[in-house]
Amino acid sequence: MTSTQKENMKIVIVGHVDHGKSTLIGRLFHDTGSLPEGKFEKIKNDCQKRGMEFEWSFLTDALQSERNQGVTIDSSQIFFKTAKRNYVIIDAPGHQEFLKNMITGATASEAAILMIDANEGIKENSKKHGYLLSLLGIKQVIVAINKIDLIGFNEAKFNQIKDEYLQYLKNLGIVPQQVIPISARDGDFIATKSTNFSWYQGPTILEALDLFQKQDETEKLPLRFVVQDVYKFDERRIIAGRVETGQIAVGDKIIFSPSNKEAVVKSIEMFGATKIWNKAGAGLSIGITLQDQIFVERGEVVSHLENLPKLGNEFLSKIFWLGEKKLEFSKAYKMKLGTAEYVVHLQEILRVVDTNNLTEQKQNSIQRNQIAEVIFKVRGLAPFDDFTQNPKTGRFVIVDDFEIAGGGIINTSTMRDYRHFHEVKSQNLSSEEQQITYLDRIKINGHKGGILWFTGLSASGKSTLARELQRELFKAGIQSYILDGDNIRKGLNSDLGFSQQDRSENIRRVAEVAKLFADSGQIVITAFISPYQKDRDFARSVAPNFFHNIYIKADVEDCKKRDPKGLYKKAAAGQITNFTGVSDIYEVPFDADCVIDTANCSIEDCVIKLVEYVHRNFK
Ligand code: GDP
Repeated sequence: MTSTQKENMKIVIVGHVDHGKSTLIGRLFHDTGSLPEGKFEKIKNDCQKRGMEFEWSFLTDALQSERNQGVTIDSSQIFFKTAKRNYVIIDAPGHQEFLKNMITGATASEAAILMIDANEGIKENSKKHGYLLSLLGIKQVIVAINKIDLIGFNEAKFNQIKDEYLQYLKNLGIVPQQVIPISARDGDFIATKSTNFSWYQGPTILEALDLFQKQDETEKLPLRFVVQDVYKFDERRIIAGRVETGQIAVGDKIIFSPSNKEAVVKSIEMFGATKIWNKAGAGLSIGITLQDQIFVERGEVVSHLENLPKLGNEFLSKIFWLGEKKLEFSKAYKMKLGTAEYVVHLQEILRVVDTNNLTEQKQNSIQRNQIAEVIFKVRGLAPFDDFTQNPKTGRFVIVDDFEIAGGGIINTSTMRDYRHFHEVKSQNLSSEEQQITYLDRIKINGHKGGILWFTGLSASGKSTLARELQRELFKAGIQSYILDGDNIRKGLNSDLGFSQQDRSENIRRVAEVAKLFADSGQIVITAFISPYQKDRDFARSVAPNFFHNIYIKADVEDCKKRDPKGLYKKAAAGQITNFTGVSDIYEVPFDADCVIDTANCSIEDCVIKLVEYVHRNFK
């Protein structure tokens, strides 16, 4: 095997600041002969000229900055090689940057070296990093107790740190393969044994690394192909993306999530390929074409029919928070899941873990560098994998103020799966593509299509505002159409009552119809109480790019006073059952795109606000 054919293994080197990570990296490069010609000598000379003592970290920094200048594809990774394989070090220039890389999965490392300064002993970060490794499921671990020279190569002191740290790691379920006394600066037990002490007979760092097993299981996992883009060439649509796990083959029946659309793979396209690809596996960026044309978007996840991600609207997770601002309730955050973006809210903090002593506390928000178990609520439905079943797709990142502020792993064990909402009963359906496209319609109409989903109590003002808004839009030359609870229930939904099940079905049908109207270029105004969040979530998931949740806000007392149809009176007298606000609940939307407070604003002012909203979002 030539060196270019050798396997790569990704490792992380973690530890408290100044415990010797950069020194070890410099050493590993030097001692394996992996440095560019003359590099070591040049840095030594530079130090001499400036009258500075040489530090191995200067070498590491120099390598890092060369990488950062963009010569390689991934600037955060550097390589050294042994006879057995190439090692890719997920480097950690700054502490925060490094934690971010680790938790976001930018650094899906297979193994780790945990470094501890023998003179300083176990620090808070030694524990935090150990905790993160256990969180991320990294089981191949070496503990390197560094600066052994500073404790006079004392075996007893080494054993004391070793025992204490092993106990801590054991509580996390980590059993290191080796605990090695080293001097990174002097090279003891990095590539060669030491002449300074003889009580340690185990492997060097390099020998221990070579004992690790390559764990490339990603192809054996269920298929997850993440859509990055859809390109249209002449009549063909190429869906480009990356096979994160599993394999995809021509002829495979696949399903897109969250849209739940089914298709059959017609071909696999590979940029610059000279042969025909019938199959592609994990790690490859490819394009696929489908036998039938269907409309899919960036962010969708492709899987086979038999091994699907769950479609959920809330999820349990362990999160590591890096944000300068705390993670708090009542704020919308952007979640990145694969290539998709969703809006999420923190719903519940179950516990915050103190990594120092592994105790748990109750808190109302999560501060920087804290690890916590939380539940997030998602706007719409998103496809979720459990991290323990799929480490590639079972993780997410939270963005706050355009910065990555946290990342975590997903636990789907208690997640409700809403996929059945999407089930299509008829077989042999194929989607017909319109000859005139949505984009053509935008051009002609001069505005986008979409859905203004009015939700609110009976008598909150939905129908009145829908009518007034429509009048204003008509005057402004904007195409709109109202779908109203009363008229739909007299026709399309005349078979439905007011049980929870019928209400959900009512909303499902309206959402599907609204989507068709929106696709035809209209602004659809729907005026339905739609009391349950899960139904509104579903409606959003039917047409996520069209959907706008408009909360028409008025509390029950105000609505009872208005009671234009006398329904509240009837409900109070028990003549109507399941009446929202009286004998059935109304779940206030947490994800409203616009709130219209009809209790405190005149109708005119409410309409002005709505017209402005339309101009902002649909022009
Ligand atoms: P990092 O912050 O973990 O990357 O730590 P560095 O690699 O920058 O090392 C911090 C300091 O510890 C530097 O001054 C190193 O020279 C020193 N150092 C690293 N390894 C050893 C060692 O084995 N023995 C001694 N005495 N000093 C070391």
